[in-house]
Amino acid sequence: FFLVLEGGEGGGKSTQAARAVEWLRAAGRTVVQTRQPGGTPVGLRLREILLSPETGTLDPRTESLVYAADKAEHVATVISPALERGEVVVCDRYVDSTLAYQGAGRAIDADELARVAAWATDDLRPHLTVVLDVDPEVGLVRAGRAGDGHDRIEAEPLEFHRRVRQHFLDLAAARPDEYLVVDADRDPAVVHAEIRAALEARLSQ
Ligand code: C5P
Repeated sequence: FFLVLEGGEGGGKSTQAARAVEWLRAAGRTVVQTRQPGGTPVGLRLREILLSPETGTLDPRTESLVYAADKAEHVATVISPALERGEVVVCDRYVDSTLAYQGAGRAIDADELARVAAWATDDLRPHLTVVLDVDPEVGLVRAGRAGDGHDRIEAEPLEFHRRVRQHFLDLAAARPDEYLVVDADRDPAVVHAEIRAALEARLSQ
């Protein structure tokens, strides 16, 4: 089973990933917890290039291809092997982040991006994507407070983050069976309970 957590900055993805993993393990599942970009050794190096302010401005195609390279390595060496072993994969960000950030954010043609991402991932789609939805004005403050630094992307204007948020919501609306959108501006325990209920329903299918 392949679970992905998506959403803008400060929606609590890492907190919710940790709680979901804890619950899945307690329920007897073997879980691989991972993230993009940076879920493999080479991916960590690509992540550094992508997020370090030292990188400066990247051509949008270059940026998208570096994200695609991170995904290709991650799917081939981590995600697909784990799914083939029958394990649960919980991934912090996946293709939708690329569509939202590089597509909605930076105005590359969405279909082209989707084609590159589909090729990079060998068409592997999550069984469930949870969108942790939060107003960027709230999320950016939270992300800053969490102290995870101020990376190249967080430094983008509010309008960029608003487009990103809307893109996640549009993706979810287009395939409601594959998504759960949760209001992330609430007590983490309440958010977790909603995610758990969706997981319970799907894992028992
Ligand atoms: O999930 P995390 O906050 O660690 O992601 C790191 C950064 O990478 C975020 O600032 C996010 O905006 C950015 N990102 C991106 N495009 C992706 C994936 C992540 O711009 N495809």
